[in-house]
Amino acid sequence: MAEETIFSKIIRKEIPSDIVFQDERVTAFRDISAQAPTHVLIVPNKAIPTVNDVTEEDEATLGHMIIVAKRVAEQESIAEDGYRLIINCGKNGHQEVFHLHMHLLGGRRMGRMVQQPG
Ligand code: AMP
Repeated sequence: MAEETIFSKIIRKEIPSDIVFQDERVTAFRDISAQAPTHVLIVPNKAIPTVNDVTEEDEATLGHMIIVAKRVAEQESIAEDGYRLIINCGKNGHQEVFHLHMHLLGGRRMGRMVQQPG
């Protein structure tokens, strides 16, 4: 079984967080260090460390994460103007928390997709 991170504690509501949606497969909560007016993390309730660890068994849950992203975007009134969904993977992807998560960012223009290293 994958090692737990702080996100498992958020999912189980053992530590405080601002959960905007939760069901049996997925939890969505506000990022503690928001990079945009809306910055929500959508995570599988099952602790999958990275995209590299995804299996066929996770296919429905990963699809569900996009459905939830769409619903949260509507809830946050950012759907019409658009938003960005990001999943970082590993060192080069700048992943910091090793519990797979999708960032939902919106409420402002996001600019070019990838920042060049300085
Ligand atoms: P990543 O770099 O893709 O792994 O993103 C990890 C994200 O988790 C960052 O945007 C952090 O601000 C966010 N984060 C870390 N700890 C918490 C927490 N306790 N509650 C909400 N967001 C968190």
